[in-house]
Amino acid sequence: MSLDDNRNDNRCEIIFECLQCGECCNGFGGTYVTPADVSAIAAYIGADPATFVRDYCRMSGSRPVIAQGPDGYCLFFRDGRCSIHPVKPRMCRAWPYIESVLKDPANWRMMAGSCPGMRTDVTDACILRCVRKQIDAQGS
Ligand code: SF4
Ligand code: SF4
Repeated sequence: MSLDDNRNDNRCEIIFECLQCGECCNGFGGTYVTPADVSAIAAYIGADPATFVRDYCRMSGSRPVIAQGPDGYCLFFRDGRCSIHPVKPRMCRAWPYIESVLKDPANWRMMAGSCPGMRTDVTDACILRCVRKQIDAQGS
């Protein structure tokens, strides 16, 4: 039975399972941090928000993104894991259930090229249904 054979089951969660490979912490042009992220991360590392932005971020337009080290990884990726996991940015917590996938499920397949935990052997309808469900759960 394919994932779309039964639209009422809960099996859509299996379209993604994090493999803890760390690839999403490498490259990608940086991770946006919201004002709430800035406050939470600054408190977690014991810095004031302005110091956190100055020392750990770069600006993308008017918005701060976490900077990357010379190895291309996020500055908070240490010893093979996220060193700020309890307060990691909203963008990292949401991955890969993001609004742009709802606009075009092709974005899911593109994202999967750099995230081995994302399944692509599923239909667009399944992707849309699963992502909608997860975004709704994140917002609740
Ligand atoms: S790239 Fe995907 S599978 Fe790897 S750590 Fe990131 S979310 Fe998990
Ligand atoms: S904040 Fe953590 S999860 Fe997000 S990119 Fe950096 S190391 Fe990865």
